[in-house]
Formats: sequence, structure tokens, C-alpha cells
Amino acid sequence: MILALTGAATAYGCGIARDVPMAELTSFRIGGPADLMITLPDVEAAAAVNGICEAENWSRLWLGRGSNLLVSDTGFRGVVLRLSNGSMPKRLDETRLSCFAGVTLPSLSRFAQLQGLTGLEFACGIPGSVGGAVLMNAGAYGGCMADVLESVTILRGDRAVDVPAAELELGYRHSKLMQTGEPVVAATFRLRAGDPAAIDARMTELLTARREKQPLEYPSAGSFFKRPEGYFAGALIEQCGLKGYAVGDAEVSAKHAGFIVNKGSATCTDVQKLAQHVRRTVKHETGVLLQPEVRLIGEDWYPPED
Ligand SMILES: Cc1cc2nc3c(=O)[nH]c(=O)nc-3n(C[C@H](O)[C@H](O)[C@H](O)COP(=O)(O)OP(=O)(O)OC[C@H]3O[C@@H](n4cnc5c(N)ncnc54)[C@H](O)[C@@H]3O)c2cc1C
Repeated sequence: MILALTGAATAYGCGIARDVPMAELTSFRIGGPADLMITLPDVEAAAAVNGICEAENWSRLWLGRGSNLLVSDTGFRGVVLRLSNGSMPKRLDETRLSCFAGVTLPSLSRFAQLQGLTGLEFACGIPGSVGGAVLMNAGAYGGCMADVLESVTILRGDRAVDVPAAELELGYRHSKLMQTGEPVVAATFRLRAGDPAAIDARMTELLTARREKQPLEYPSAGSFFKRPEGYFAGALIEQCGLKGYAVGDAEVSAKHAGFIVNKGSATCTDVQKLAQHVRRTVKHETGVLLQPEVRLIGEDWYPPED
């Protein structure tokens, strides 16, 4: 079975690796080994490999930059399909850009700035790929993917299918793709003409704000919890006196309580125990039940009664 998959992957110019530590592929620097990883250079390769995975019933994890993941210490049993970040976006016309979904948000937003197109400034400091960002409807500083996304190309088996953004049910850190599991392999954005210098100035302002407020010096997956309606997760956690609270090397950041950081050799179990303590304390003290924004891979950690 594995031979058909790796044979096709090789024929399409993909990278293949076995027993890859997920800690090396995630911004949290946490996670045990994945059985197999295939790095996909383009839509054609992604479609061919996905078709075989589907036909052979492989358990799949679609991976972008691993910046919103907490992977189990035992890793992932199956194949990690990672979109390469090696290609450039393309300008389609006056206001539209398209790209392979492995392109990172910082490079996409810089490309747009250099082209004199405004709308993607919000994304310049989000360290994810376009595919992961569409799935999560990533956003910051008042903007989100839904504001600028025109359409995506997704995979159904070995077929690439174009879908308008309006059909993705994009909401706060949500898309329909979370239910369907269909991977995004390309995206088209509709932006507006703007002044490159003004766009650059706004990007610098946003990157500076991030450096000042976020613990970027430590590995993390960004905000660990979603923003509960009417509150900020970080403010609630701080209000409960949990800033700096740690389990092993996993710590509620002393700089921004919405982040859980890895101070060195935190395990997934450490983060899980810490997150559960935070959830229970915040629920007990404020009545608000925090929901994780970070995607948990490998196990179901949160007990149903929570
Ligand atoms: C320091 C820091 C700051 C951050 N700031 C923000 C922020 O301001 N706003 C924000 O929204 N997020 C933020 N994040 C979180 C994260 O960067 C975003 O959620 C990002 O969109 C995830 O993209 P990714 O490529 O890293 O996805 P991954 O972490 O690789 O994957 C996340 C989810 O998307 C799925 N996925 C990945 N690629 C695809 C694909 N091609 N098709 C379908 N599904 C796919 C994965 O299976 C997984 O379920 C931050 C993270 C860090 C570490």
C-alpha cells in the first residue's frame, strides 16, 4: 500500500520522509513522530496524492506551517500532507491575486504590498499558510480571510474543484471545511488599489504591536483559546491570577495571558494539563467556558462534561 503512495509522490516531485518529529513542524515545538510525511509542491501533485490516499483509506493530516496545532506526544499515525511554501503568488488582474495554499501569509501580504494592493495588511504577522488560514478564517486587527477571499480550490479525491468563498460559511475562526475535511490547495483574493508606502507603514505598525504585546520569543501556537463572546480570553485568564502559571515547561505567558508558551521542553501532556487547569479555573471564577482555538491532533483531551 505504502509503495503506491510513495511511488506516485515521487513521480510528482514530492518530498517523502518517515518518522518525522512533529515538534520540528509545529510552532509549539511539541509533538511525537508522524509515520509518513509527503511535501506537495503544487496542486497537481496534491490532487494525485490525495486521490491515492482516499482510495487506500490513509489517515491524513493536512499541514501548513503548523502554527495552530498541538500534536500529541505519541505523534500522528498516518500521512502528513504538507503543502510546500516554495511558490510565489500571481497577480491575475487589477485587484486580484491567486496563490498555492502553501504560501505563507507574511509572504502573501508582502507580495500584495509590493503590487500596491491593500486588504491583506492584517495578515502580515500571522505565521500560517493560506490553506490553514482559510480553514481557520484567520484574522487580526479587525481583518480576516473572509474579507478578502474570493474563491478557493479544494480537493475532492483526485479532483481539484473551485468553490466561491461565500460557500465556505466563514465565521469567527470557523469554516465549513472543518466539517468536510476537504483540503484547500489554492486561493484567489480580491483586494483594492493602494499606496505601497502607506500599506508598508501599516504593516510595520502591526508587526511592532505584535512584538510589543505577544511573547514571540517563545514557541507557541498563538492565542490558545478562542475569544468568548463579549470577553477576551487573555483578560479573563489574567483576572483569575493565572499569568505565569506553569505545568512543567508549559506556561501561561507572563506577557500575554492568552498565549500558552513552551519555555523549553514542554510536552503535549504539560500543555493539556495547563489548559485544563486554566479552563476549569476561568469557568469556576467567571462562569465562562473557554474553547481552544488551537487544533488538537492525535487525541481528544477535553472531557465531555467540561
Ligand atoms: C505567534 C503566533 C501568532 C498568531 N497570531 C494569529 C492571529 O493573529 N490570528 C489568527 O487567526 N491566528 C494566529 N495564529 C495562529 C495560526 O497562525 C493561524 O491559525 C494560521 O492560519 C494557521 O495556519 P497554518 O498553515 O500554520 O495551519 P496549521 O497549524 O498547519 O493547521 C491548522 C489547521 O488547518 C488545517 N490545514 C492546514 N493546511 C490546510 C489546507 N491546505 N487545507 C485544509 N486544512 C488545512 C490543519 O489540518 C489544522 O486543522 C498565530 C500563531 C502564532 C504561533
